[in-house]
Amino acid sequence: MARTICACAQCVACCTVQPGSCNPGDVERIADYLGEPVETAKLHFWASPGAVLMDSRSGRLLRVGTITPRLEGGRCVFLDDTDRCRVHAVAPAGCALFDVHMSRATSDPIMWAHLRAIMGAPEYAALRATLEPATSWQGRSTDGGV
Ligand code: SF4
Repeated sequence: MARTICACAQCVACCTVQPGSCNPGDVERIADYLGEPVETAKLHFWASPGAVLMDSRSGRLLRVGTITPRLEGGRCVFLDDTDRCRVHAVAPAGCALFDVHMSRATSDPIMWAHLRAIMGAPEYAALRATLEPATSWQGRSTDGGV
């Protein structure tokens, strides 16, 4: 999938509200880019409650927990003082593959592929289980209590 490149104010605003979620392997790639062991680099991330999906066959809601960069002081830990991403070259899939200008028709298939990759990677869930839970998440009424 082709990555997006946009640093407009709207896209940067996402870096202050909800950093993008990682694909399997993203934490390891970012660790390598930063020159840090994974055990050190993973401290830049936390376990987000993630996305709520509807199983079209059963109608049941299910939650896909994700790994995202931490928010500190209202900013992604990778957002520098000039509002640029310090890990742009290896940014999480949720940052690299989406921007706020995309239509739902464009972004939905990418999102599904992203979530399927997460659901198919037990090592991702294992890494996520070692991370601190996200403290920025406040939930939404549409989450259905999942
Ligand atoms: S990793 Fe980079 S693009 Fe993604 S939220 Fe953080 S600063 Fe923004």
